[in-house]
Amino acid sequence: MSINVEPLRKILELECEKGYIDSAVIGGLDKFLRRWAGQVIESITNPQLLSHFHRLRLVDSDYASLTEQQRKQWLNEVLAFLSAAEHMEAEKGEVELPKESIVPSPPVAGRRSLGVGGQSIDSSITTLRGVSTSLAAKFNRLGVKTIRDLLYFFPHRHLDYSQRKYISQLAEGEEQTIIANVWQAQVTMLGGRRGTEAIVGDETGNVRVVWFNNPYLAKKLPTNTRIVLSGRVGLFGGRHVFESPEWELVEDRELIHTGRLVPLYPLTQGLRPRQVRKLMKQVVDQWAWQAEDFLPSELRQRCNLVELPQAISQAHYPEDEAAKDGARLRLAFDELFILQLGVLGRKHDWQESQPGNPFSAKTPVLDVFTKSLPFELTAAQHRVLEELLADLEKPRPMSRLLQGEVGSGKTVVATAALLVAAANGYQGAFMAPTEILAEQHFANVCQLLSRVGHQVAAEDNLRSYSGILSHPLTVALLIGDINQARKQEIQHLITGGDIDIVIGTHALIQKEVEFHRLSLAVVDEQHRFGVAQRSALRQKGFNPHVLVMTATPIPRTLALTLYGDLDLSVIDELPPGRQVIKTKWLKPAQRDSAYRFLRRQAAEGRQAFIICPLVEESEAIEAKAAVAEYQRLSRDVFPELRLGLIHGRMPAVEKDEVMHRFRSGELDVLVSTPVVEVGIDVPNATVMLVESADRFGLSQLHQFRGRVGRGQEQSYCMLLAENPSEISRERLDLIEKIQDGFQLAEEDLRLRGPGEFFGTRQSGLPDLRMAKLSDVALLELARSEAIRLFETDPNLEMPEHHLLAKELAQVWQKGGEWS
Ligand code: ADP
Ligand code: MG
Repeated sequence: MSINVEPLRKILELECEKGYIDSAVIGGLDKFLRRWAGQVIESITNPQLLSHFHRLRLVDSDYASLTEQQRKQWLNEVLAFLSAAEHMEAEKGEVELPKESIVPSPPVAGRRSLGVGGQSIDSSITTLRGVSTSLAAKFNRLGVKTIRDLLYFFPHRHLDYSQRKYISQLAEGEEQTIIANVWQAQVTMLGGRRGTEAIVGDETGNVRVVWFNNPYLAKKLPTNTRIVLSGRVGLFGGRHVFESPEWELVEDRELIHTGRLVPLYPLTQGLRPRQVRKLMKQVVDQWAWQAEDFLPSELRQRCNLVELPQAISQAHYPEDEAAKDGARLRLAFDELFILQLGVLGRKHDWQESQPGNPFSAKTPVLDVFTKSLPFELTAAQHRVLEELLADLEKPRPMSRLLQGEVGSGKTVVATAALLVAAANGYQGAFMAPTEILAEQHFANVCQLLSRVGHQVAAEDNLRSYSGILSHPLTVALLIGDINQARKQEIQHLITGGDIDIVIGTHALIQKEVEFHRLSLAVVDEQHRFGVAQRSALRQKGFNPHVLVMTATPIPRTLALTLYGDLDLSVIDELPPGRQVIKTKWLKPAQRDSAYRFLRRQAAEGRQAFIICPLVEESEAIEAKAAVAEYQRLSRDVFPELRLGLIHGRMPAVEKDEVMHRFRSGELDVLVSTPVVEVGIDVPNATVMLVESADRFGLSQLHQFRGRVGRGQEQSYCMLLAENPSEISRERLDLIEKIQDGFQLAEEDLRLRGPGEFFGTRQSGLPDLRMAKLSDVALLELARSEAIRLFETDPNLEMPEHHLLAKELAQVWQKGGEWS
C-alpha cells in the first residue's frame, strides 16, 4: 500500500480535537472519507489490510448518524488502522501487526469492547469481557477453553444472506435480505402464542414481518428504526410475509446476523445464536491477527494457501464464497498436514530409532510350503508375499497394512511369512479379534502345515510338525477362555522359546505373556484393534516386524490418515472361480418369502446364516435377544431344520462346538449375533439372511455377505430392512448392485462420513473439523508436503520450522490416544 496516510490522519485528529462534531472538513467527514477510500482501495494489496479496510466500511461510512460516543470509538479504530497500514508499509509488506495496535472491531451501539491488556491468545475465554462464567461453562462443554479454541470454533455452515433485495423484488420461498424502516411493531398472538408482528417499508413498498414466540422483540423496534432483515419469505392471503427472519439494526456498523454470509455455529443448550455470533465477531476481529502462521511461508506459497489469520477470520465471517472456500482449504490443509507429520514421525521412531531383525527370506521351506498348497497363489498374493519378504529382509522393522477382500487369501500369505520367521529361528504371533476367529486361524494354519510336515504332537491347543524345520515346528492357540493351568503351561512354553507360532486373541498382549524371540506380529482385522493394542504387541518383541491385515476395504484417504504410519499392500484379486453373490434387500412383508427360499436351499443340502437384529445396549441384552430369536425360529419357522445358535456371551467351548457342528454339516442354519461377522469359512453355506440390515454400514453388510459364496454353489444374500431411511435405502440399493468391497467402502465413506465409517469404536480417528476425507487431492498434497519436510528437517529444528514444531506438539498432545 503505497499511499500517504498523513493528510487523512491530520483531518481525523482535528475532528477528535474539535469534539466529534463533524466539522473537520467542509461537506462532512463522510463525503471526504468515501472519496479517500474510493481512491486508495485499489492500491491495497495486502489481504489482511484489505479485510480491515472493508470492515471499517470507509467506502460507505455513515459518520453523520453516529452518536458522539460511537464517533469517538470509530475514529480511534480508523486511526489504528492507519498506523497498522503504515507499519506494514515500513516492514515492506511483512505481515506482522503490532500486538497492541491491532485494529479493533467497529463500534456497535452500547457494546463493550474486549480488553487486550495482559491477555494472550492462550488466555482463558473468561478473560474476555462479556464472557460470564456461565457462558464460559457452556463453551467448555463444547471443548472451548481458550481464546485460541474460540478462534477454532468454526461454524458448521453459513447462510447466504448476502443478496440484498428491494421489497418490490421479494420472491416467495427464497432467502433474501432487505433494508427497511420499521413503521410499526407490536406484540400479537401468532399460532396461539405471543409473538411480534411488524410492518416495514422501503422506497418500493411495505411488507409484513412475523416472529413467532418472541414478543420481546416488539420493544426493540420502535417506529422509524432502520433495520436489516434476512430470511425466508412466505405467502399469506396472497401477500408476502417475512417469517422469523434474522434482524439487525442498521446502526450496527457491520452486519453480523444479516446481509452477508452469516455463520451458523454448533450450539448446545443455552447458547443463543445471536449471542455466539456477536461474541465470535468481536473475538475474530480482535484476535485472529494474533494467530501465528506456523506454515513455512515457502510451503504456503507453493501450495497456494492463504495466511492463517485471514483463513480464521474468513472461516467465520467470509466476505464471499470464494474467501470462505480459500479459508476452508487452508485450515483443512493444516489439519491433514499436522496429522501426516505426526504419523510419519511415529513411523520414523519405530523404524529408524532401533534396528529390527532382518530375516533371510531365501529359505527352502517357503518353496516347499507354496508347492504343498492345494491351489496356485493368485498373482496378487504372489506380489504381496514378495513385498512382505522384501520388508522382512531389511534391518528396519516392517510396518505394513495388508488389505484384501474377504476370501482374497490373506491368511495363506500371513502363514508363509510366519513360517519364514520360524525358519529364521524367531517366534511369530498371529492376533485375531475374536476367539472364534483365533480358533479358525489355528485350525487353518495347522491344516496348511500338515500338508508340509508330519504331525508329531497334538495336545490341547498345541500341535507340532516334523520335517519342516530342523526342529519340530510348534504352533499354539492362546485365548482367554482356556483353563488357567493350561494357559500358564503355554505361556511358559512361549517364554522358553518352545513355541514357534502362537495364534490368539487379546490374550497375547497380556502382561503375563513374555516371548522368547518374537520378531513378527501379524494382526488380523486391524480395524477392531486400537493403536494401543497394536503397539502393545509391538512391545512384546524386540522391535518386531508388524503386519496388520484387514478385510474392511479402507478407502485410500482413510488408510493414509488412520494408518499413515504403515506401508500399504493390497490383494486386489480373488482366487479364480469366485461367484457373484445375488443380493437383495427386502421389506418385513417379504420375510416369509425369504424363509421359504432358505427352506428350499436347505432341502438341497445347503446351509444358511441368519444374523439377528442389532442390539446396541449391551452384549448381554444382545445375547438374550439372540436366544429369543433362535427359539422363535426353531419352534415357529423352521421346526423341520436343525438350527444352532452362537453369540458373544457363550463360553468358547460351546461356540467351538456349535461352529464345529455347522462346519461339518450337522446344522442347517446358524443363528448368530452380529459379532461373528468376520472370517468364518464354510463353503457349503449359500444363504446369508441379515435382520435389521438398514442399521449396518455397507462395509459390515459386505462382511456378512462374504460368509457365503465360498464354495461352488450359487449363493444369496438377503437383507431385511425394517424401516429404512432414505439414506439407508440408498445404501441397500448400492450393496445390491456393487460386489466390489473397495467401491462399497468408498460409497460408505461418502454416505456416512468418516466418523461412522468404523462404527462407534473408531480406532483413534483424529478430530478433523475442516478436512473431509473425501478430499483426496488435499490429503495427497498434505502428505507429500509432510514427506518433503521430513526429508530436509525430520526433527523440525530449522528456525523457520520452529512455530510448526510448537503447533505439532500442541495438536498431538491433545490427541492423546493416537500419539
Ligand atoms: P481372507 O482371510 O483374505 O478372507 P482366507 O485366507 O481365509 O481369506 O482364504 C479364503 C479361502 O480361500 C480359504 O478357504 C483359502 O484356503 C482359499 N484360498 C486362498 N488362496 C487361494 C487361491 N490362490 N486359490 C484358491 N483358493 C484360495
Ligand atoms: Mg481372514
